[in-house]
Amino acid sequence: MVNLEKIPRRSYTDGSTPLEHLPRLSAELGGPQIWIKRDDCLGLTQGGNKTRKLEFLIADALAQGADALITVGGVQSNHCRLTLAAARREGLECHLIVEEDLGPEGIGLGPAGANPPEYTGNFLLFDLLGADSVTVSGNGSDLLGEAETSAAELRAEGKTPYVIPVGGSNAIGALGYVDCGDELLGQIEDAGLDVTALVTPSGSAGMQAGLIVGLHAAGSDIPVLGINVSRSRADQEPKVVDLVDSTATSLDLPPVPRDRTVALGDYFGTGYALPTEGMVEAVRLFARTEGILLDPVYTGKAAAGLIDLVRQGEFGADDTVVFMHSGGVPGLYARTQAFSHTRTQRRAQT
Ligand SMILES: *Cc1c(COP(=O)(O)O)cnc(C)c1O
Repeated sequence: MVNLEKIPRRSYTDGSTPLEHLPRLSAELGGPQIWIKRDDCLGLTQGGNKTRKLEFLIADALAQGADALITVGGVQSNHCRLTLAAARREGLECHLIVEEDLGPEGIGLGPAGANPPEYTGNFLLFDLLGADSVTVSGNGSDLLGEAETSAAELRAEGKTPYVIPVGGSNAIGALGYVDCGDELLGQIEDAGLDVTALVTPSGSAGMQAGLIVGLHAAGSDIPVLGINVSRSRADQEPKVVDLVDSTATSLDLPPVPRDRTVALGDYFGTGYALPTEGMVEAVRLFARTEGILLDPVYTGKAAAGLIDLVRQGEFGADDTVVFMHSGGVPGLYARTQAFSHTRTQRRAQT
């Protein structure tokens, strides 16, 4: 186990998130017993995995005397929503720089305004939570460069800004998932489970990298299988490995073997946030069998990966798999078109 006690931290969730068995989904798929770690139930506005990262990132910002946060993401960024929610809790200013979605075929559309955001989902919440500014940039823009420019402007006004990277994924944010690894191992032990694998969405990689470091440091050899939401395996694994290395180094831990990082690139379709048939099926299946909502950008695609691996026989009846529910449900309402073509007809009432 890693001792995080000495590292500054804020607290945004009261206690652990549940680890729940999904018997109806497991029966429907006819493969392993599937359990779910409900990080969609974390604290701050509507929860999700960024809440754990922000406990460490905001503590670092406050330790540096920051009075304003700046962060970046997509127009439906859960990370931007939760950073803003944390800013409201802490009485900090918060500026968001967001990138327009890709066009339907996964092609960047160039200048800002080519694919303007709808006033719904997380984008609506940016407004309700009173973001001090929301700048919408064209797809493919240098968001972090813009964040640094904005930070320089705030400094010139006498403020102390703190820039949080995409997804809160650096060696500080990843500590949230090092800690989650310990929490989860305790729950697995209490439930008496022999877990074959942990399946997790992998995006900016902080969640997967943190879990890998946390489990490895605790002496657990449970594999942490990433399902990529935007990149091929060849592009994603080095990102995860880099963050595993920098996180382990920051904690003075010995290096983590390279083969602990596996991040599959077969399930994101044509691009980040663009719907896939597997995602639509997975979101419907979790909802219909267990009453659990997934999101279309991360957990829906990761669950599509899990379902496919079960169908391919990668996990069998003797296995137990834990699926990380990392949140993101507000984004569901921004992408309803993805579901309308498979709408289930209501049974006629006579
Ligand atoms: C950001 C996010 C992820 C991906 O986590 P990373 O640490 O960026 O890899 C997964 N699910 C949801 C809902 C997210 O918002």
